[in-house]
Amino acid sequence: MTRFHSLSASIEKIRGEAPLRADKTRLLGASKDQPPEILIPFLEDGLKDFGENRVQEAEKKWPALKKRFPDVTLHLIGPLQTNKVKEALALFDVIQTLDRPKLADAIAKELRSERYVSTAQQANTGSKKMFIQVNTGNEPQKAGISPAETGSFIRYCQALRLNVVGLMCVPPANAMPAPHFALLRKLALENGLKELSMGMSGDYETAIRMGSSYVRIGTALFGKRLA
Ligand SMILES: *Cc1c(COP(=O)(O)O)cnc(C)c1O
Repeated sequence: MTRFHSLSASIEKIRGEAPLRADKTRLLGASKDQPPEILIPFLEDGLKDFGENRVQEAEKKWPALKKRFPDVTLHLIGPLQTNKVKEALALFDVIQTLDRPKLADAIAKELRSERYVSTAQQANTGSKKMFIQVNTGNEPQKAGISPAETGSFIRYCQALRLNVVGLMCVPPANAMPAPHFALLRKLALENGLKELSMGMSGDYETAIRMGSSYVRIGTALFGKRLA
């Protein structure tokens, strides 16, 4: 059994026994700093969701891989600068790190540009899925909207007709993750959002037990990062 299949089976087993289980928990391969030759066996094995942290790195790696594996869904899971919005929307299917009004404005503006409006399948801004990143630990150096502002920011994005499907978080490095996952879940429920992107190599079991619908796993799937 390959690493992809054993990890998928483990995720499904934990989900099946979880009291707060999501309808489905998807495995997202966090592939930053992993070269194509590491990723190809996983693509051949059927892994469909990948997350990259940097637009520039993804632009180097993914156009060729997407050509060969066209049904891959590519998620941006790292911070997005407003001057990279155009490139990011051209490459990524899902943006998981929407976290401030300026960025929401820039994304909405780009999605209303001719490039998107003129193609039939992207006739409105709703075709691109977005997660809002929440800074559940209120860490000053970390990306994400504060928990207190999350509700109003969700409504701000919805008023721009962005397709916000869920919330994403990265708990503080040295904290117990469970309270952060619980807070993310509470904020999603309060605001009528269904998807929860939470859980990484070290804490995905806890996240799945608390209802995660996307676990973002790097090292436990692909091995150590090169960089
Ligand atoms: C790198 C990264 C991951 C995966 O981390 P691992 O500990 O290697 O599983 C998940 N989410 C984000 C946002 C990351 O930057």
